[in-house]
Amino acid sequence: MKWTRSQQLYEEACKWMPGGVNSPVRSGKSVGFTPFFVKEARDCRLMDEDGNVYIDYVGSWGPLIMGHAHPRVVEAVRKSAEKGTSYGIPTESEVRMAARVVEMVPSMEMVRMVSSGTEATMSAIRLARGYTGRRKILKFNGCYHGHGDCLLVQSGSGLATLGIPGSPGVPEEIVHHTLSVPYNDLQQVQEVMREVGEDVAAIIVEPVAANMGVVLPAEGFLGGLRKLCDEFGSLLIFDEVITGFRLAPGGAQELLGVLPDLTCLGKIIGGGLPVGAYGGRAEVMERMAPVGNVYQAGTLSGNPLAMSAGLAALEILSQKGVYEELEEKAAYLEGGLKAVAGRAPIAMTLNRVGSLGCGFFTPDPVVDFASAQKADTEAYALFFREMLKEGVYFAPSQFESFFVSLAHEKDHLDATLEAASKALKVVCEKVS
Ligand SMILES: *Cc1c(COP(=O)(O)O)cnc(C)c1O
Repeated sequence: MKWTRSQQLYEEACKWMPGGVNSPVRSGKSVGFTPFFVKEARDCRLMDEDGNVYIDYVGSWGPLIMGHAHPRVVEAVRKSAEKGTSYGIPTESEVRMAARVVEMVPSMEMVRMVSSGTEATMSAIRLARGYTGRRKILKFNGCYHGHGDCLLVQSGSGLATLGIPGSPGVPEEIVHHTLSVPYNDLQQVQEVMREVGEDVAAIIVEPVAANMGVVLPAEGFLGGLRKLCDEFGSLLIFDEVITGFRLAPGGAQELLGVLPDLTCLGKIIGGGLPVGAYGGRAEVMERMAPVGNVYQAGTLSGNPLAMSAGLAALEILSQKGVYEELEEKAAYLEGGLKAVAGRAPIAMTLNRVGSLGCGFFTPDPVVDFASAQKADTEAYALFFREMLKEGVYFAPSQFESFFVSLAHEKDHLDATLEAASKALKVVCEKVS
């Protein structure tokens, strides 16, 4: 494989953009990778500027559950664009979107559209504080809720990848009211709530954590959070930016049977365009302006292009058998990867729910951020680069998920497993 043109573009990009990228994990810094530049993409495949083709398990970091350039999404965007891209005035597409979201997500009675997942979580936190009149928020180490100031504490995703515990530029006073405890540690949550629960506006959690690699909630963890929130009058916020519409039509809350007060959405809901949303019970949501006095706004919020793309995506996901198909494909990939790792032989712990998964290079169970960080990131980096040479693109970080889409067919999955078999042999030789 040659990366001549990508290399040239990258060098130019680094002159004009910090690190040559518009979002840090794309730089591939932690896996010794110089980013390739994408020319176009279709179904589950990416083609770069040098004509190399990759089977893609990143899917733009989650949104593309139906695959790249899905004809229905493309057509919806094209039709919508012809009628104008944004008005700043209500449109029917916003009503259709809100109705669809409320119909699909069990705990949501009302929704507000925004333009990113970060905006969704920032706004949900503000609403929780406005609604309860309290200051503190409780989050979990290794969970990522976008890059809003008060949530950049012990955060996952790019901060985990780059080993940044908090960020310069966020004054201590700003994060003074943010508490962070280990994921799955209900006892520590209990202790914190007993101490300061009366001032906790919200507990925010990824119901399945997917920004420290994938970590499943332990039996009773989410239910325990629900109980504590009820006991102390705090709101429970599920950040379903990744899990929403991925694990079930109604997200993790439907799959796991625990209902939050507020839900944050993003990624899939935009069908590949920049979208986020947050919502919950009407009584809480009506605290937002213009009905209530908690302020949040957006020039491009609910714009018709994004609504059209998102609605097309949600329609595809409303077809019968879609989630069964995703489960089957992802289970096939999981089984294959485990078998290949067993033959290598290399210790790999694979966590998966539906089409969301992650293979950690560690023999031990991964149940929180600390155990995720025990994974051998050198081994992952090598695995990543070897897979890339074989034409398979996994996330350029140990602390991200792989995403299986409807566009991954059995041939793609088999090609992936064959590549993994070769890659893991190289990893075993070099690492052990
Ligand atoms: C991606 C992500 C966000 C941030 O969404 P952006 O659209 O990147 O701002 C928030 N929460 C979770 C769980 C995410 O995975």
